[in-house]
Amino acid sequence: MLRVGNVSAKAGEKTFGYLETTTTRSGLKMDIPVHLIAGAEPGPTLLMQGAVHGGEIIGSIALLNFVENADPSVIRGNVIVVPVVNRAGFELGERMSRVDAKDISRLFPGDKNGSASDQMAYHYFQEAFIQSDVFIDFHAGGRTAYERYVLFDAEDDPDKLTVHEERRRKLIVAYGLDQAAYFPTGTFSPGEAKQALEDVGTTQITLEFGGGTGWFKNGEDNVRDAERGIWNTLKCMRMIDGEFESDGPLCTVYNAGVVIWKPPVDGLFIRDKKFRDELQTGDVYGRLVDPYTGDVLAEMPTPDYGIVIPSGQEWPTVGATSIGILGSIDRVEDRRTMDMTIDFD
Ligand SMILES: [Zn+2]
Repeated sequence: MLRVGNVSAKAGEKTFGYLETTTTRSGLKMDIPVHLIAGAEPGPTLLMQGAVHGGEIIGSIALLNFVENADPSVIRGNVIVVPVVNRAGFELGERMSRVDAKDISRLFPGDKNGSASDQMAYHYFQEAFIQSDVFIDFHAGGRTAYERYVLFDAEDDPDKLTVHEERRRKLIVAYGLDQAAYFPTGTFSPGEAKQALEDVGTTQITLEFGGGTGWFKNGEDNVRDAERGIWNTLKCMRMIDGEFESDGPLCTVYNAGVVIWKPPVDGLFIRDKKFRDELQTGDVYGRLVDPYTGDVLAEMPTPDYGIVIPSGQEWPTVGATSIGILGSIDRVEDRRTMDMTIDFD
């Protein structure tokens, strides 16, 4: 029996329900929509979520398509799917929860005595994360489009990989995209959420997947490839049989170690460099102009050598943190020679 709080599925069943978590002080329910796919045969557990940032919906659509296409009778193990985690942010297409202005993705393992989002994260973590072997977190551009890549945390020592790091290397490549990137420790967040997951035996990868105003142009391709990566992940975890499908044989892994932070003024950001451009220290990455007069308010030189890996926040910079990410090639993985399957005992 697969059980996530008050929602359950018997072996061979596919069910849907709302995981009860908490209510806000005004009585708004913070329940989480959960699809359960309980495989007919035993095996590992895969947890996937979309829209923890409420405006990032590519993964949500891919997850719903996956649930529709999944046949529990041929699956070994269990799949837990949450298409929209942050319902209160999704309402207005916002990153943060509308209820308490918190970023839910930073709250795990949660706090049962905290604010509504903390409590929600606590119950979600207890019921779903603790029993999962692998967790896929789908992000995308909100207002602005992202390039598509697998994102993961830096390895402590690449010559002495932990079990999680070894598994993650396989998951990253198996997913099927031609690029992946990691941020050196401490670039953005202190990494407490990552540690909380590893402490309960869950290996995480994150996806950044298109979105933004490009949605109408390339949305279908992104949704299709996001779902393709989900099926690849099940193959990687030996939950289904079948050949891997991918962008091609190679996956370039970037060390995304150069962040161009937003200048102290707001304005309209014009990026002068394109994805995969190679920049030297001091090269101008972009300009911030007054949106009404066109006057240049600031130039943004790159602080170090790097290859452009576009992130979001490239149009107006109001409220943004970083406006550009550059990386160097850490390694190139070859799917033709790599064993992309994981054994879970
Ligand atoms: Zn996000």
